[in-house]
Formats: sequence, structure tokens, C-alpha cells
Amino acid sequence: MKKISTFLQLFIISILLLGCSKTDPVSMPLIEKTTEVEKLFEHSKEFTQKVYSYENGIHAAVGYGIANSYLIEGDGFNIIIDATDSVFQAEKVFKEFNAINANPIAAIVYTHNHGDHTLGAKYFLDQQDEAPLVIAHESTAKSVEKIFGILNPIISSRSSKMFGTALPEEDVVNVGIGPYLSVGRSAPGYIKPNVTFDNELKINIAGIAFEFFHAPGETDDQIFVWLPEYQALFPGDNIYKTFPNLYTIRGTSHRDVNAWVNSLDRMIALEPKNIFPSHTLPFSGDFAIETLMIYRDGIQFIHDQTIRLMNQGMHPEEIIENIELPAAVAASPYLQEFYGTVRWSVKSIFNGYLGWFSGNISELDPIPTFKRAKFVSNMVGGPDALFAELEKAITNEEMQWALELSDLLLAMDYRASEVARYRAEAAFYLGTMASNPNKRNYFLSEAQRLIGDKEPDNIIPPEASMLDQIPMDMFFDVLRVNLNPDKVDPNEIITACFEFSSGLSKAMILRNQVAQIKGVLPIDCTLNIQTDEQVLKQVLAGIKNPITEIASGNLIVDKDVQFLKLLTVFRP
Ligand SMILES: [Zn+2]
Repeated sequence: MKKISTFLQLFIISILLLGCSKTDPVSMPLIEKTTEVEKLFEHSKEFTQKVYSYENGIHAAVGYGIANSYLIEGDGFNIIIDATDSVFQAEKVFKEFNAINANPIAAIVYTHNHGDHTLGAKYFLDQQDEAPLVIAHESTAKSVEKIFGILNPIISSRSSKMFGTALPEEDVVNVGIGPYLSVGRSAPGYIKPNVTFDNELKINIAGIAFEFFHAPGETDDQIFVWLPEYQALFPGDNIYKTFPNLYTIRGTSHRDVNAWVNSLDRMIALEPKNIFPSHTLPFSGDFAIETLMIYRDGIQFIHDQTIRLMNQGMHPEEIIENIELPAAVAASPYLQEFYGTVRWSVKSIFNGYLGWFSGNISELDPIPTFKRAKFVSNMVGGPDALFAELEKAITNEEMQWALELSDLLLAMDYRASEVARYRAEAAFYLGTMASNPNKRNYFLSEAQRLIGDKEPDNIIPPEASMLDQIPMDMFFDVLRVNLNPDKVDPNEIITACFEFSSGLSKAMILRNQVAQIKGVLPIDCTLNIQTDEQVLKQVLAGIKNPITEIASGNLIVDKDVQFLKLLTVFRP
């Protein structure tokens, strides 16, 4: 895997390479597992790697990527629902499916935009001459572009922590909805959908009646697939065998919890007999409806009670203390907190309706942490006394308190390396004790980062074919949000005009330390650039060097020095 070292690298559709840690750097004392943690180990049974076969030619590849991939055998053709999390895993899944039925693939369906359902698609596509249909909701491509585009650096880094991809693989028990994320094991293989719909789509594929319904929930672009002849339901990620991720700690915009309940109700109305979720094992019989029912009740309870308590004036922390799941919901094997949790859900629902201000005036404009650190330190008798409090918290195994004290000491930059070591110890302890794998992996990753000798993350550059899947607009959006205001002259106005061989034009106007992007070229261009879309995409993604591209005539620029200088404005 080559490392990117070219002139400009904006982290566009780059993927963090997995497992680059040297030897296990966090050699912390052994911590006895609690029963709760043992349940997490039990939960791994959901992800035993195997292809399960069901009636009507439906087969489930479970435990390869973190999401399941389904094969449905049709008349002379096959249909794939969800394409696993990587080309690396898609190759294994394809081999298994091909041994069952070697017919060509007529359609690949994405239940939603997340990488664990889309990034292996290219492998399936490359195995045949005729391109299959790629079916998804009409907003799926936009959602993919958002994650691959402006949010890529932070989502990539937080996902890596949440899924534990930089931890030694044996330290990851599971990731709650799958065994281990393989996204970074190969270059991303996303293929843009070519059949999309708004509310619903009913078509016959290879002799099978397919019904696709928009069903916002875990994501806004979520769909479910209904095969009426088989009474088979593919709910995507709107149900799996763990408490739903009403919020994900890797970071997400607000998830519409109410819409999620409505989507489950639409599934229940179909009276499905067999349910094939995109994570965890399929289930069927009377149990199928009962499970959908308790799941929707669990979500509605959290939503409604959060609103009720919010309306009484409670702040998120108070709501968390006052909310208690109904006994049947709390006892359901489908609602154990192996992915989402009640606590994070409450905060997210509150935030979705009211935004970040809790209502508590002390939290509107709190004093900065370094100042609070000084006040607290003075209160207890100086930084040494505060440091002693941290040591005491570690000894007493009050590890969350230890983390909070370490925030203060780090803000004061007091005995920073010792504080970091204690912080790592607290993170390691809390991670090891957590039965929620998201928390576990995030905390263990942080512990490793704090004291480990981990090599810097390698980046797998995207392949040129992947760049074709992403529109030019996204690249300009990424440029905008990478503008470093310290590198531009606030008094200068630069108008860079791009003309592409495709006929597309883009103007980028630098003014007042913002880059405005326009689709129409003005008459007063300071800089003129003529090139192919693919060339500029590769330059911006770090695959090609702009100097070489100018020299070879692939990038024609009237003022090349100014152009190269302009590119530096978008570097960190
Ligand atoms: Zn998923």
C-alpha cells in the first residue's frame, strides 16, 4: 500500500489503514471481566463467519464485513442486497455466493449509504461484463459524498476509534453489529447508484417481484426491501439485535427517531414472516412481528419520554437519571446496549429538538477549561494537590473522575506526561469494563494513542475509478472547508476559473478569507485553468502531482506559479 506524499492531499475519500500498531503498547494490569462484559463476548456468536441458506434461494453471508450481504437467486440472474464493507471482504463473499449460483448479477441494492453496505460493490461489478443495476434511495449518493467529502477526516478518525481499527485485532471483541471493520483493508469500491427512487419502487428483477420503500431511520436515506411472494423483509439497519444506534459516537447529524418508529410500523403492516437484517442473524416466524413490535416500542418510549421530561424543564443529564425502560423492553435480547445506549440516545433526541444548549445558564457560556482548572487547583491547594487527587481517583478506581481531573491538569500543562499516563490508565480501565463495544473500542484506542508507540496511520489512496463516482462539486466543497485563513491576504481578491474538457466550468473566488464557488465563469478571471475533471480530482486527492501535470500539459494554467501558490492555501 503506497503512502501519499504528493504535493496536496486533502484526505478526499481516503481511508485509514487498519492495524498499524506495533506490539501491544498498552500493557495495563489485567482487569477482571464483569458479567456485563462477558455478555459482549457472548454477543460475538451473532457474527460467526458463515453463509446461511434459506428457502426461496435466499442466502446470507454473515461475519465477513460488519454488514451482512445477501444473495437472492432469480431466474437466470442473481440479486445482491448490500455489498459488504470492502473489496477485501466482497471477494470472499463473492466466492461463496458463486459456488452456490454462478449466474450473473442483475442488481446490487444498497439499503443505505454507509460504507459497510456499499464499499465492496466494485468487486461484484468487476466479475462480469454487463453492468448490473445499482439500486438505492435518491439521496444515497449525496450522503456518500458528504462522508467521503467535507467530513472525511473527522468521521474517518472517529470511526477508526469507535470500531477499534488501530487496535490489535485480538483486542476487538466485536463491534456490536459485526465482527471487525474491514473498510481499510482495500481501496474503497463504492459504485454510484444508477436506479434511484423517492418514496417507493416496485419492479420485477429476474422473475421476482421486488418492492423498495423509503424508510428513514438509522439514516435518512434508509430503504427496506420487501419480496411479497416470499413474505421476506430486508429492513436494512432499522433493526438489528442490539439497542439501536439512535446516536452514533463516531458523529452524525440528528437521526429522526420518530421517522424510525414510523418506518418500523410500515414493515409490521406487511406482516413479514422472514426478516433478513443487514446486521446480526436473520429471524422468522411469529417471533418476527413480536421483535419488530418491541423494537419500535423501545424507540418510541425513549423518544416520547425524552420529550415529556424535556417539557418539564429537565436538562439532558436529569432526563438520563429519570428515564427507565419498560421491563419488557429492557429484557428483550434485541434491545441490549451492544451498539446504541439509552444515555446517548436521550442526549441526541434532546439536541435534535432543542440544539446544544441544555437550558442551564451555567452551561451557556462556561469559563474555559484552563481557567476552571486554575480555580479548582487553587481551591484544593495548588496543582500538586490536584495531581494527588488524580492519583487518589486512580487508586480508588474512580476512573471517570480521573479522566475529568486529567482534563484540568492537561489544560494547565502540569506534569503532562504523567497525567497522560494516568489518563490512559483510566481510559484502558473504563474501556475494558465497558460492555458497549463502541465505548470499549473508543477508550482502548484513546489509551493506545496516549501512551502507545503506534506508527502514524497509513492512508490508502482512492483508485482513479473511484473518483469517477464522486462529482466535481464535492471536490470544490472540500477545498472550501480546507481554506486556511492565515495563508490568504485578506485584502486580495483572486478569481480562479476552471474549464474542464467535459464542458463543466467552475469559478473559485477568494475574498475575505472565504472561497466562493460558482458554476458560471465571470469575465475578470485572475487565473485560468484548463484540464480534465479526472486530472484535477487526482491532483486534489493526492494521487497526482500538480507540477508534473502542468509539465506534461494535462493541466494548462496561464499563471502556474500563482496556481501552485493558490493550492497551498488549502493545506493545513
Ligand atoms: Zn450498517
